[in-house]
Amino acid sequence: MKILMFGPPGSGKGTYASRLSTRLGIPHISTGDLVRDEIKNQTEMGKRIGEYSSRGFLVPDNVICQLLQERITQADCAKGFILDGFPRTIPQAQELERISAIDLVINLQVPDQVIIERLASRLTCRDCGAIYNERFLKSKITGRCDKCDGQLYQREDDRPTVIQQRLVLYRKQTKPLIEHYTRKNQVRNVANDEVAVPPEVVVVQIIGILQTSSS
Ligand SMILES: [Zn+2]
Repeated sequence: MKILMFGPPGSGKGTYASRLSTRLGIPHISTGDLVRDEIKNQTEMGKRIGEYSSRGFLVPDNVICQLLQERITQADCAKGFILDGFPRTIPQAQELERISAIDLVINLQVPDQVIIERLASRLTCRDCGAIYNERFLKSKITGRCDKCDGQLYQREDDRPTVIQQRLVLYRKQTKPLIEHYTRKNQVRNVANDEVAVPPEVVVVQIIGILQTSSS
């Protein structure tokens, strides 16, 4: 099954996508990770991406689409994938349709206040970008990443005033996309109104939706 995950910053999207990936046996693909890997591995593409960012430009769509196309044509994606962080615009959605069909869009709906409370305690790994939460998703060793032992820190854009702006931007950007996929009858909403819902509860809920939709 080919799944898109939409959710505001702080909705837990990345965490759910990664757990779903384990449960469903299909890869979790984050375009943010794809870009980071290219830079880290200093590939030709990574160097080009580095040039864009050093000049203050966003990574162009065609670069991201190329990385994505290379990734989802690999053997482990034969049964499907969970895509996180893409598409962000209608042109990107159209480009994605050219690369691959999509079965379903999981749209996480979380009230702003819940997100603000959650992000205030969110920690990010400096090295691999893994996400933790001081309250709900602790790392095994305080301040260190479980995956790579990197240092955990609070991102500048997880602070409440910045979050407000990010949420406004997210809703504005996502609205046309949700409308686009709603017209195709592919959107499934997953409401999450509480601050501390264990990720596993949400994952089970999403799996239920996927099973209903595919039967
Ligand atoms: Zn890490």
